[in-house]
Amino acid sequence: MTNHPPIVDTFLRLVQIDSPTGHEQQLAETLCQMLRDLGAEVRTDAAGNVIATLDGEGDPILLSAHMDTVEPGRGVKPRIADGVITSDGTTILGSDCKSGIAVILDVLRRLKAAGDRHRPLDIVLSVSEEGGLVGAKRLDVSAVRAKVGLVLDSGGPIGTLVRQAPCQDSLAVTIHGKAAHAGTDPEKGINAIVVAAEAIAQMPLGRIDAETTANIGKISGGIATNIVPDRVEIAGEARSLKSEKLAAQTSRMVKAFETAAAKHGARADIQVTRSYEAYFLPDDHPWIRHLVALCKRVGVEPILMSSGGGSDANVYNAKGIQCVVTSTGMSNVHTTAEQIAVADLLAAADLVYAVVTAV
Ligand SMILES: [Zn+2]
Repeated sequence: MTNHPPIVDTFLRLVQIDSPTGHEQQLAETLCQMLRDLGAEVRTDAAGNVIATLDGEGDPILLSAHMDTVEPGRGVKPRIADGVITSDGTTILGSDCKSGIAVILDVLRRLKAAGDRHRPLDIVLSVSEEGGLVGAKRLDVSAVRAKVGLVLDSGGPIGTLVRQAPCQDSLAVTIHGKAAHAGTDPEKGINAIVVAAEAIAQMPLGRIDAETTANIGKISGGIATNIVPDRVEIAGEARSLKSEKLAAQTSRMVKAFETAAAKHGARADIQVTRSYEAYFLPDDHPWIRHLVALCKRVGVEPILMSSGGGSDANVYNAKGIQCVVTSTGMSNVHTTAEQIAVADLLAAADLVYAVVTAV
């Protein structure tokens, strides 16, 4: 693999180090060493996040990507054909998000080689993004100097700038009914499955409006056909770009469970957790204007967009670091058909290099 550009060699090395969510340590140790060799000051925090800093001129910039990957993600065997990197088809590739890490490392490599002036950099390589943004949530941001940042964790054309993403509520519901023999004493039972079904049928789900979605994603309960089921567990979520719309949707879902439970004399235990907060950086935000100008300078079309999904950027924005998510060209992520073009990796690194050297 010696004829590849350095960023490709780095990327191929990273994807061959297993790092499924919760098992990022080996990758973290490798990355700590690579970052030190590139001149950064490096440490890990209690959550396992790798935090590196590089001094420079002007206001610091956060560069972030996550270390964990989804399954099936062990024993990745990358292939390159016609300028496109894939797995062998039995696993994901891990370009989500090791392409982002490779871009960050390549930017540091180029800075070191060229000796160009650059902004101070705070680099956070997080754990357990796929497990619910856990590493980002546990990150102590007092250790981060930057007030603006780039999270390298998106697909789409290079120049994609995700400057808006929704907030999300997670619902965990247990319906407690009453067990009885279904053949001899059905009138003594309270059927938890019927209560759950009635509640779910009453609530708005799917696409609620252009900014809001909701889903019931998991349901389990019941033991046998001859027992009136006394317990059902349901998991669902709602998302919206607007927190007031999310509150309205979540309360409709909660109310549907409460109403159905009350009607049948059952009890609904409902836990609502805010998974992450929304963010929005408008067109005239200085960081957006700056990034748009830099895209144009390197000949990339800036694409300002909003996402339907959450990322570490939601957490960083909520903690006061104004971040956008930018593309590395990864596609078909979370599937065994995941791929990334070498040209996109190079172009993503060019764009980030332009951002960090705009002193
Ligand atoms: Zn990702």
